Amino acid sequence: MTMFQTLQPQPADGLLTLIGLFRDDPRNSKIDLGVGTYRNAAGVTPVMEAIKSAERVLLEGQQTKAYLGPEGDQRFVELLMPIAFGTSGAHAGRLVGVQTPGGGGALRLGGELITAARPGAKVWLGMPTWPNHRPVLEAAGLTVVEYRYFDPDTQSLCFDDMLAALATAEAGDVVLLHGCCHNPTGAELEPAQWDAVAALIAERGLMPFIDLAYQGLGEGLEADAYGTRRVLACVEEALVAYSCDKNFGLYRERTGALFVLSRDEAAASVVYGNLLALARVNWSMPPDHGAAAVRTILESKELRRVWRAELEGMCRRINQVREALTAAHPRLGFLSRQRGMFSQLPITPAAVAALRNDHGIYMAGSGRINLAGLQIADAEIFVGALVAVGGLPA
Ligand code: PMP
Repeated sequence: MTMFQTLQPQPADGLLTLIGLFRDDPRNSKIDLGVGTYRNAAGVTPVMEAIKSAERVLLEGQQTKAYLGPEGDQRFVELLMPIAFGTSGAHAGRLVGVQTPGGGGALRLGGELITAARPGAKVWLGMPTWPNHRPVLEAAGLTVVEYRYFDPDTQSLCFDDMLAALATAEAGDVVLLHGCCHNPTGAELEPAQWDAVAALIAERGLMPFIDLAYQGLGEGLEADAYGTRRVLACVEEALVAYSCDKNFGLYRERTGALFVLSRDEAAASVVYGNLLALARVNWSMPPDHGAAAVRTILESKELRRVWRAELEGMCRRINQVREALTAAHPRLGFLSRQRGMFSQLPITPAAVAALRNDHGIYMAGSGRINLAGLQIADAEIFVGALVAVGGLPA
């Protein structure tokens, strides 16, 4: 037997299969709510104007492609800090960050830092969650413990289950939290619930690991950072995986950062050294282009203004689609209370298949829909199809 003959076949990625099916569907009226990228009112995932402008600046002005270090573009990391953590400078000296290949790279690096510090650490995951959380964190060496975060039948947050789970977690256990725009459910913690979670994490000595992948796409940049800032204000140590791939529309450029809060400056410096060592053995250094474009935007008052206006427009459009669906059927009222690109309908696999086969409407097998994939003019058609396949919640 040769070496590779010992490998086991891997299951196909459901979303990639869906992309292929959608592409091959000849119906003009087909609707794609599966793929997880923002789409504008014309149905395209645009390169943002601010990014185009920044890319022109880079094309003309970039002097070298020489290597950076494993920390990536440090100016990019510094400029993100006030956006994610506010301008108070409260964590000065205790907060370090490195550029990573997307939010996914930040999750992996953060997981490996935890494993280096505490081999075999547990991580508490509220279910359902982004399907990559579990495999990435397990690959980094953590042991996953699940609890119920969301009840699809009532479309509500299981806050009592969440508190009960965290109350049984032990000091040093990691708690993974979606900073905003929960993927896949859109179910957000209210500010008062964030306060309670932050207090419980601090009281029990848990390690918060916040996944902030959609800042600005829920309520706005400031409101979407509430939970992250609140948790960091209450604890000595924390990790934040940040993605610029949605709020700067950079997806394939793999643009993100991992931030780590430590107890004091000396500990932060040791953490930083460990992050560099881990980055070096993973990807040596992150790809430059996306971070350089983000840095160019954040360094320019004018490009910053353009970016913020575009981001606000994206956020508005998502919330308008949510409102249109709620207006189209009272039993979809939950959609306008949820935030971000995703919600997860309480729909059977048979109804998901019927939507695809009979109506040309594509969504993930889990019932997750990307609201940005819907044109407002199609809201009534979509709701009519949901009714026809028995896909509305009771
Ligand atoms: N976290 C969540 C919750 C996500 O939805 C995603 C992207 N789908 C990521 C992290 C990773 O983002 P990136 O593409 O920047 O790796």
